Amino acid sequence: MQSSITVRVPAKVNAQLAVGGRRSDGYHGVASVFFSVGLYDEVTVTPADRLRITVAGTDAAFVPTDPSNLAARAALLLGARYGIEPNVHLHIDKGIPVAGGMAGGSADGAAALVGCDALWGTGADRSVLLELAAELGSDVPFSLTGGVALGEGRGERLTPVPTAGSFHWVFATAEGGLSTPAVYGECDRLRELTGGSSDTEVPVPATDPALLEALRTGDPGALGAALRNDLQAAALSLRPALADTLRAGTDAGAIGALVSGSGPTCAFVAKDAAAAAALAAALTASGTCRTARPAEGPVPGAVLVRRPLVP
Ligand code: ATP
Repeated sequence: MQSSITVRVPAKVNAQLAVGGRRSDGYHGVASVFFSVGLYDEVTVTPADRLRITVAGTDAAFVPTDPSNLAARAALLLGARYGIEPNVHLHIDKGIPVAGGMAGGSADGAAALVGCDALWGTGADRSVLLELAAELGSDVPFSLTGGVALGEGRGERLTPVPTAGSFHWVFATAEGGLSTPAVYGECDRLRELTGGSSDTEVPVPATDPALLEALRTGDPGALGAALRNDLQAAALSLRPALADTLRAGTDAGAIGALVSGSGPTCAFVAKDAAAAAALAAALTASGTCRTARPAEGPVPGAVLVRRPLVP
């Protein structure tokens, strides 16, 4: 059997993240419009004598290499399902910001599912991979499918959203991450100050028809105007400097701006590729972020980039 499989998997931004109240199980219901963009991690799976993780790329030092890594958890889960010892080396090349609100860990979980499935020849149905993905985490199923999708429940119940053409985004990364549970906790705290945070006190999360229309017609101006993130106030409360980044992008010509997911990455919409390149340069020069990168989307989810050689 050949030795290694590499899977490329994209980051996501939430073009809309509507967050419901805290449920009795501690989770929040969401209505999330996931949008996959061309910032990628690559996960290479190689047979080994035991499960092992290595990580390269910016902020690799902040990624766990123990069994809590979502890629390791994916290999364990798929192995358990098919009775296979998950003796693989998973090498993760990180291009997605770590703890940046772009689902980098979820992406690696999805990539490891696809990579281990291919290496072991398990031939798992797409429906099985999606079920295992949902077990790993709310954002993992979307990392498998890519494209643009409405996520309901905790985000794992996906419905594809029709889109026309390509959209141009810019992502401004920050020094240091934000913890997703801490941002949800801050969202609850802020809601407590103004009427309550439970699911009986907060409106049921719903998608904005104007956003769906912007995506269907491929209109970047309308997309920019319809961006919305219910976690943004909480992310700004924990990291006030993000307001400077958002303002710098808007001043430099962005036609839409928001915090990506739980942050601290900030996402901007530009009207075309040239505007995105200019915006990324202006943001990087502004000193309000670590760096800014343009990326197009939507793009496909986790895909094999190197196939095994037949023995
Ligand atoms: P999300 O947008 O899904 O809320 P995020 O993009 O903000 O997530 P991640 O990059 O997924 O954040 O990292 C969140 C935490 O998950 C990290 O601080 C790290 O401890 C842990 N983690 C587990 N596996 C991975 C992985 N493969 N890559 C990055 N972080 C991982």
